[in-house]
Amino acid sequence: MASSEVGRKERTAGADTPRSGERPGGVRLTNVTHRYGRGAEAVTAVGPVELDVPPGEFLVLVGASGCGKSTLLRLIAGFERPTQGSVRVSGAEPRPGRAAGIVFQQPRLFPWRTVGGNVDLALRYARVPRDQWGPRRAELLERVGLEGTDRRRVWEISGGQQQRVAIARALAAENPLFLLDEPFGALDALTRERLQDDVRRVTSQTGRTAVFVTHSADEAVFLGSRVVVLSRRPGTVVLDLPVPLPRGEVDTEELRASGEFADLRKRIAHEVKA
Ligand code: ADP
Ligand code: MG
Repeated sequence: MASSEVGRKERTAGADTPRSGERPGGVRLTNVTHRYGRGAEAVTAVGPVELDVPPGEFLVLVGASGCGKSTLLRLIAGFERPTQGSVRVSGAEPRPGRAAGIVFQQPRLFPWRTVGGNVDLALRYARVPRDQWGPRRAELLERVGLEGTDRRRVWEISGGQQQRVAIARALAAENPLFLLDEPFGALDALTRERLQDDVRRVTSQTGRTAVFVTHSADEAVFLGSRVVVLSRRPGTVVLDLPVPLPRGEVDTEELRASGEFADLRKRIAHEVKA
């Protein structure tokens, strides 16, 4: 089946911007399929997928558990190379650890280091000159609402705060592409909403491209400027929907309560369950 027949396409980003993958922060997947294992044991996790993410877009990938969302993100991050097809990020084949800032479901911090020490490691890895670490660390921690926590130990802060540190760390590289794999899945509802508000604000301030993976339709509509729904495994694109909700300085509570929000959420939830 040709990928153009796979989903109802409601936008023409691919046609408008065929070179997204060649621009800083842009991503392009061309006819991508990924299999794990060989022979009779082989599992096709995802594909075929065509996806064009222009710089500055906040794309949310939604789909049922096991449909290949994390696989797609790992392909974009360069941790895996696709069995078939090609992946382009910022004009090149993605290099693992360099193609994007990444936030995982678990914060994966160094527990014996301080909050500031964890951010410093990322600044070092990003080759930021040491004399700039102080101001950069302060700025990053402020951006995620953790100002003044530099000297706290990781085990002294809550799970939500740890995930904020992970976000600050991912932002440290100033990479134009930001990848997030169900980063709030393990958090309580209130903390999750607060972090969603923050991620929405931070990404619209920094103008970065984001690819965010979730299985929650609610989270997808709230965060995405565009939502792509994947089918069950092997994941293919079944819905590609622009989210015409206001971004920037908005009353997020009002937004979440709006009829437009509810309609979009319903539509996406329906497609995820299909
Ligand atoms: P999702 O993130 O949507 O839950 P994944 O991308 O993690 O889905 O997995 C998609 C499919 O690929 C699943 O069936 C999973 O079991 C399989 N899979 C994922 N990673 C591996 C791996 N390293 N080796 C073998 N199979 C894998
Ligand atoms: Mg996953």
